[in-house]
Amino acid sequence: MRPNNLENYWMPFTPNRDFKADPRMIVSAEGMYYQSSDGRDIMDGTAGLWCVNAGHAHPKIVSAVSDAVKTLDYAPGFNFGHAGAFELSNRLAELFPENINHFFFTNSGSEAVDTALKIALAYQRARGKGTKTRLIGRERGYHGVGFGGISVGGLVKNRMYFGSLLGGVDHMRHTHDPVRNGFSRGEVEHGAELAEDLEKLMTLHDASNIAAVIVEPIAGSTGVLPPPKGYLKRLREICDAHDILLIFDEVITAFGRLGHATAADYFGVEPDIITFAKGLTSGVVPMGGVGVKDHIYQTMVDTADAPIELFHGYTYSGHPLATAAALAALDAYADDAMYERATDMSVHLADCAHALKDLDHVIDIRTIGMIAGIELASRPGAPGARAYDIMKAAWEKGLMVRVTGDVLAFSPPLVISKPEIERLFEITADVIRTVE
Ligand code: PLP
Repeated sequence: MRPNNLENYWMPFTPNRDFKADPRMIVSAEGMYYQSSDGRDIMDGTAGLWCVNAGHAHPKIVSAVSDAVKTLDYAPGFNFGHAGAFELSNRLAELFPENINHFFFTNSGSEAVDTALKIALAYQRARGKGTKTRLIGRERGYHGVGFGGISVGGLVKNRMYFGSLLGGVDHMRHTHDPVRNGFSRGEVEHGAELAEDLEKLMTLHDASNIAAVIVEPIAGSTGVLPPPKGYLKRLREICDAHDILLIFDEVITAFGRLGHATAADYFGVEPDIITFAKGLTSGVVPMGGVGVKDHIYQTMVDTADAPIELFHGYTYSGHPLATAAALAALDAYADDAMYERATDMSVHLADCAHALKDLDHVIDIRTIGMIAGIELASRPGAPGARAYDIMKAAWEKGLMVRVTGDVLAFSPPLVISKPEIERLFEITADVIRTVE
């Protein structure tokens, strides 16, 4: 089953030379497991890339997509419609916070973020606040890989190779404070005051020039950073006080990761705009989107100076296979009570993760919902190398883990069982013990 030439494919976010020298090939997947090309079951500790929330090959999603491809393989979204895109928007309106009822579809989280930033700018202009053009992000933020996303994002390697990025962007400080918040469960105790960075940026730029601030409610890709208690609420208050849009990037948190449809719901803080992707289709067909509060959509529609209210869209916005996958995934989440299950399982996940705290090299463990981050001490002069070796060793032992820097990030499908959670952390403990 192994392709005999690995050279031509340029792999994303992968050390290509290292992989091609010793490839890890996946041939199929079902439920909690992948099958590798050498015939082994590999437990999916990460729901793919935080997306396969319903587990692999969920029968409802598989059959919905197979039916959809036979009925309507493609329908253009510009000037034409098909029922799936409208139906999905109606369903999302029920699931998302009360005032977020309008949805724009993209093909990925990165496109969702760039779409959200463009909507924020166009909306400010449409309501006569055309000076509000600055965008605020946060250090260590990950908002995908489009130019908008890397500009508001705060991961140095994702930014440093790509020129001067978008102008007019500034950043708040990140909230990571292992000294005060080490080995945490849920929201961390300390750091709500870091939201005041937004006030501070206002004294530099003035609120009349700021369109929006974007944050991940839980910073995922930088290594699992739950927010400090009260932090998101304070951001909301500051945005309200200064007439700034608050965008939550929920690409990893929406659709059950925290046992709720959205992190906004989990934390009880309503943003103006939510970006989402991944769990929307349980990863089966690429799809992302942006949900906006009613007044944003209404202002754009009411004040448009051209028949088209938003000059933006993708060939595959609302693709029929994607909407079929999304509708079926939402059914699967509801019918199998997966969000409730996630809430129940999250306690066991946290218990098993924190049980690893005394292992050598482990310097912090952070858990929230169905997410766990285990941070390891970096090898001197080789940041990321230890976690990368652990990822490779875990694959050999039958477990897929995700690494970012020296953090092991776990975000299993929501269908994981208690014994599987135990097994996941047994393997992890084993490899942490053996990898120097
Ligand atoms: N935003 C957040 C918070 C993410 O975690 C990700 C991906 O992990 C993205 C955006 C980008 O999504 P995609 O890889 O689908 O473009």
